[in-house]
Amino acid sequence: MSLGSLLPPLGETIRCPCCDRTIPALVLTDAYLCPRHGLFEVGSEENDPKKNNVVHLDSGRQWLFWQGQWHCQHQQIESLRTEIFAALDHLHHQGFHATRITLAQRYRELVTPYLESGSDCFRRIYYGKLRLYGLPVTFQPETQADYRWQVISFELTKAPGSPKNYAYLTCTRVSESGGKFG
Ligand SMILES: [Zn+2]
Repeated sequence: MSLGSLLPPLGETIRCPCCDRTIPALVLTDAYLCPRHGLFEVGSEENDPKKNNVVHLDSGRQWLFWQGQWHCQHQQIESLRTEIFAALDHLHHQGFHATRITLAQRYRELVTPYLESGSDCFRRIYYGKLRLYGLPVTFQPETQADYRWQVISFELTKAPGSPKNYAYLTCTRVSESGGKFG
C-alpha cells in the first residue's frame, strides 16, 4: 500500500483555511490538524464533485478550495458579514472603495430574514433596495450559474479612491462594541 492511499484526498498537507499556515494530514484519516485551529476534515458535499472541501470539526464551518484559495461557505449571517467587511477593509487599504456588493444566490435564504426584521446592517431602505454597510446589495444574476458562483460568496464592484461615506466602517464598529448582529 502506498503512502498516498493512507492520506486524505487533498494530499500530504493543505493550507489551514483560518491561518494559512501549511498543516499536515493525519495518516489513516480524512483530516488535517492545525496546531492553532484544530481538525479539518475533508467533506463529501454533494454540490462538490471535486471533493475540494473541508469542514472545521469544532465549528462546522466549511470551505471550498478553488484557484489556490479557500472560500468559506457560510452557514451564519455573522460570518458572511465579517468576510464582506474584511474584503471592504482590504480594498480600502489598496486605495479602492466598493460601490456595490453582489451576493451568491445560495445566500438568499440566509439573508432574507435579516432584511425583513429591519436589522441595522442589512435592511431595506432607499425605496426597497437592499443595503449592507451602506452599499447597495444585489444577488448573482440567475444567468450566471457557473461553478465560480457555487464557490465564491460575493463579489465587490470597486472604484479608485476612498469611500465617500464610511457607513460600512461605522456600522461594524458599532456592532463590535454593541455585541450581536440582527
Ligand atoms: Zn490554522
